[in-house]
Amino acid sequence: MKNVAAIDIGGTSIKAALVDEKFAILATASAPTPKDDFDGSATVDAILSIVAELEKSGPVSAIGFDTPGTIDEMRGVARWAGNLGWKDLEIRSLLQEKTKHPVVYGHDVRCGALAEMRSGAAAGFKNSIFIPIGTGIAAALIVDGAIRAVDGFAGEIGHMNVGADIDCVCGLTGCLEAVASAAAIEREYERNAGSKKTAEEIAKAIGTDMNARTVWESAMHYLAVAVEDLITILAPEAIIFGGGLAGAGALLIDPLERALDKRLTFQRRPLLKVAHYGPSAGTIGCAIMAFDALAQG
Ligand SMILES: [Zn+2]
Repeated sequence: MKNVAAIDIGGTSIKAALVDEKFAILATASAPTPKDDFDGSATVDAILSIVAELEKSGPVSAIGFDTPGTIDEMRGVARWAGNLGWKDLEIRSLLQEKTKHPVVYGHDVRCGALAEMRSGAAAGFKNSIFIPIGTGIAAALIVDGAIRAVDGFAGEIGHMNVGADIDCVCGLTGCLEAVASAAAIEREYERNAGSKKTAEEIAKAIGTDMNARTVWESAMHYLAVAVEDLITILAPEAIIFGGGLAGAGALLIDPLERALDKRLTFQRRPLLKVAHYGPSAGTIGCAIMAFDALAQG
């Protein structure tokens, strides 16, 4: 039985696992995402030490890794990743030069969608949208049974203008991600309340903490604005929420359902669901991508 090292690089942390052919997780490892690593060298070193740690639990046949941002999957280039500080970085070759294992590289959200499509919450739907919400927000668009990347540019819904007045990493103001990502919710809560809570804790405190309620309701309002537009444009049968914020479960789904009740008129009403693999969707997707590459030789 072969194993692969599956490495999901987020804006804040790197989550990795040694995964076997049945997608069982044999070991896990994590590390903080290197900050201001403009040439990618610290990230390559972090990946190599994670792979070395995973190899203590079993042999590795390939490395599958992903990052956020707009990427060119064919060329293995990170075109732009605001939360990593990367621009036109040939990250796949940089890693491949330092390891003898075959390396495959994908987009974090599309890797998560791949996992949800093959055996998770998006299985059985021809048209769905996978939206992980963490440090940032992006979407994988599953249209007519395939994940549509459109040369790696599609799905950057975190930068839809929802009319908010907070500055975004992309240089503009008004973006969804600047007001409704887990990181944005935590920042806004800290600014109002003067103390720190995780986004999930904020969601759970809305019954007792007025600051939590205000911040959460504002984020849900802006998410509903974006989701309504996605439904009108793409007519998905299901929308799957993942990432850290999906841990809020019904506290995320219920306010969105209520908002859509008021906002949708003629549109097809999609099912709103929480991701089956939760925050591990990206990692499992990296493993699927690596095994697919091994199967194709
Ligand atoms: Zn933006």
